[in-house]
Amino acid sequence: MANGSILELTGVGRRYNEIGRELVILDSANFSLGKGEMVALVAPSGAGKSTLLHTAGLLERPDSGDVLLDGRSCGSLSDDERTAIRRNDIGFVYQFHHLLPEFSALENVMMPQLIRGMKPGVASERAQQLLDYMKVGARASHRPSELSGGEQQRVAIARAVANAPLVLLADEPTGNLDPVTSSYVFEALEALVRQSGLSAMIATHNFELARRMDRRVTLKDGKITNL
Ligand code: ADP
Repeated sequence: MANGSILELTGVGRRYNEIGRELVILDSANFSLGKGEMVALVAPSGAGKSTLLHTAGLLERPDSGDVLLDGRSCGSLSDDERTAIRRNDIGFVYQFHHLLPEFSALENVMMPQLIRGMKPGVASERAQQLLDYMKVGARASHRPSELSGGEQQRVAIARAVANAPLVLLADEPTGNLDPVTSSYVFEALEALVRQSGLSAMIATHNFELARRMDRRVTLKDGKITNL
């Protein structure tokens, strides 16, 4: 999918040095995420899903190989350049929401836009639209502690796409939720991704959710392979 790919990992290696042994997590791994594609990353705990997502999301540098975002090689960029790309072009959702506790849901979704230099009025309007889309618009003025787990994750997803990124990376975004809530939150996430033409890679242990995506990949012997 060379032409239509938005995110590419080419020959990516990542290893950790443990006392007495070396852990090889990624070994010349290749992966390509197509534009508008939604891919599930399914692998056992400890297999390296977070490592892969952090490397793809420019939070960690690979030991070898390169990460290309929309055809742009990110391997030799400075830390500042990587930070700018992370801020504008990559949305990240974690298992835990990581919302700022002292700010409202609306303000949390405005924040990435304000950091990017958007006017508060514009940021506020977009934040409310995204919260509405995630069906949590009525809770916009509430702080994270006043929201349910499912609502917190909806806000975190809205925040991740606030700057209209090229790619959404999610690390077990519904892993902390009960099955019913998990399904509702995933439905809203899926609708958002489909409607906006976003590309997404989502780590999940939930096979039912994985089945609903376009493709499933796993990590085996340091390689990323289709399931
Ligand atoms: P997953 O997300 O699939 O559970 P991780 O990517 O978190 O897997 O971890 C893969 C392996 O790498 C695990 O064995 C973990 O202990 C190890 N690991 C992760 N981060 C580090 C680190 N910073 N230093 C050493 N080992 C690490």
